[in-house]
Amino acid sequence: MSFTLHGLAVSGGIAIGQAHLISQATLEVSHLIIPPRMVEKEVIRFETALSSVRNEFTTMRVNMEHSPTDIGAFIDLHLMILSDPELAEVPIQIIRERRCNAEWALVQQMQLLVAQFDQIDDMYMRERSYDVRQVVERVVRELLGHPNHVSGKSGKNPKGENLIVVAHDLSPGDVMAFKDRHFASFVTDVGGATSHTAILARGMGIPAVLGLHNARHLIRDQEIIIVDGSRGVLIVNPCQRVLEEYQLKKSQLEIERSKLKLLKTAHATTLDRIEIDLLANIEEPSDVAAALESGAIGVGLFRTEFIFLGRGDMPSEEEQFEAYRKVVKGMDGRPVTIRTFDLGNDKSIHADETTEDRKRENPALGLRSIRLSLTAPRSFQAQLRAILRASKLGKVNILIPMLSHAHQVDQTLAALEQAKSSLRRDKMAFDENIKIGGMIEVPAAALAVGVFLRRLDFLSIGTNDLIQYTLAIDRTDEQVSNLYDPLHPAVLTLLSHIISRANKAKVPVSMCGELAGDASLTRLLLGMGLRQFSMHPAQIPEIKQRVKQSDVSQLTPLVRRILRLEESVKIQEQIERLNR
Ligand code: PEP
Ligand code: MG
Repeated sequence: MSFTLHGLAVSGGIAIGQAHLISQATLEVSHLIIPPRMVEKEVIRFETALSSVRNEFTTMRVNMEHSPTDIGAFIDLHLMILSDPELAEVPIQIIRERRCNAEWALVQQMQLLVAQFDQIDDMYMRERSYDVRQVVERVVRELLGHPNHVSGKSGKNPKGENLIVVAHDLSPGDVMAFKDRHFASFVTDVGGATSHTAILARGMGIPAVLGLHNARHLIRDQEIIIVDGSRGVLIVNPCQRVLEEYQLKKSQLEIERSKLKLLKTAHATTLDRIEIDLLANIEEPSDVAAALESGAIGVGLFRTEFIFLGRGDMPSEEEQFEAYRKVVKGMDGRPVTIRTFDLGNDKSIHADETTEDRKRENPALGLRSIRLSLTAPRSFQAQLRAILRASKLGKVNILIPMLSHAHQVDQTLAALEQAKSSLRRDKMAFDENIKIGGMIEVPAAALAVGVFLRRLDFLSIGTNDLIQYTLAIDRTDEQVSNLYDPLHPAVLTLLSHIISRANKAKVPVSMCGELAGDASLTRLLLGMGLRQFSMHPAQIPEIKQRVKQSDVSQLTPLVRRILRLEESVKIQEQIERLNR
């Protein structure tokens, strides 16, 4: 039967392929009765899985010694849960007495414990049921032999047809894990339009629809799906006529994309001869190829945390240096802006967090990003040293995320000085004049931008977080995504304020949030005075085309008028006129 689902259009384009359902390990284990002679073997299988997860947690704990105390406490708690007889021993009784397979025995016991926790009045205790679930999920995945959420090796089925990932939830770590598997698209029940899961889809240039609510339950494995990423529509089991219509649309889109590629070597110059810098946002060294292919003049944002998501511990200085070295070398003299870790909120070093877990805490306002880095001086030094060492190999800038207070800049500059001194002591070379910039993505920083202009060499506007914090909407939560409005007058006022103050102070300012890659806003931003845009490589050709068709001298007075409007709808109308 054919049916249609509607969700959030987070990454444009059309994909046609077979559904590839991603399981949630704890919910979908097989239920097997073990023959009596195999029971003791099953017990050993269970104990082996338990001990390997215990070893993993213990190693993580040792590596985390110098990390923020709450991460350590979190691992301690999981270790405790893992050793509790309720989880370590009762499932063995179930295997022996009821002859259940290990996964099933464990999940039965987990369900019992979770039900008990849910009845406790104390909120803190009730929330521990999440920890129990996480620990059990980890053991189940060990038993199943695949430690990552995402199964399957290739984005094609054995016949070479495209696969479309259908999941309840995908963390940014999951998406990174299947980045090189070439899935045609992915769709999920939860997730917001500027969540990092959505950002990764745009970066991979594949269509994606999030916030579909029930797709994971309604769609069966191997059903044929059409994903229309621009309209946020999913058509399951389409009839022949609809299929042909979408195949035609898909090939038209592909022709348009390949035409735009011809602009690769052209300069991004406006009709009135203003040179605009178009740079690439990347997440890992292998993205350099796409950045170069797109014609980017450099990397405007390297989100360093993505390489290490879900691995359980912080990377060493050497591991980081290796990654940064590859990017700097690959960009071959072009500027590379390396952002220090922006961990926390929806990006975790731990593999087991789900969107539901994260929503319980309000993590976007918590210990994330530079706040987290400053609480872990050893890890921060390791990162700063690695970036500084890479600066010797090309043109590197350092970017500090999520600044809100002047003292965070002062502390970061002091940490940088310390890293420089230690490298000098170790006789290791680095660029003594390395530039350091800050992300303006908290409304307080936007309003008090002078504080940052005085202390830093450049600014970069993170519109994803700036909009999240200005409009008080969780960027990962599809339930409030209808309130996401980049054209809200408050957002435009902040953007224009940052850009004009930076231009007046002659401090370079760029934009690296998702708005920079939205061609419908290019003229608005040019009219505000923005001259540097950083975006997913796949978006560069379209933005370049828009820049080349724009006349800034005409746009400036029109945009000044738009900025006086107070209704989003009127602003939208005027922007449409601007784009005609
Ligand atoms: C932003 O917030 O706009 C940004 C570029 O950073 P991230 O999306 O990684 O939070
Ligand atoms: Mg941000």
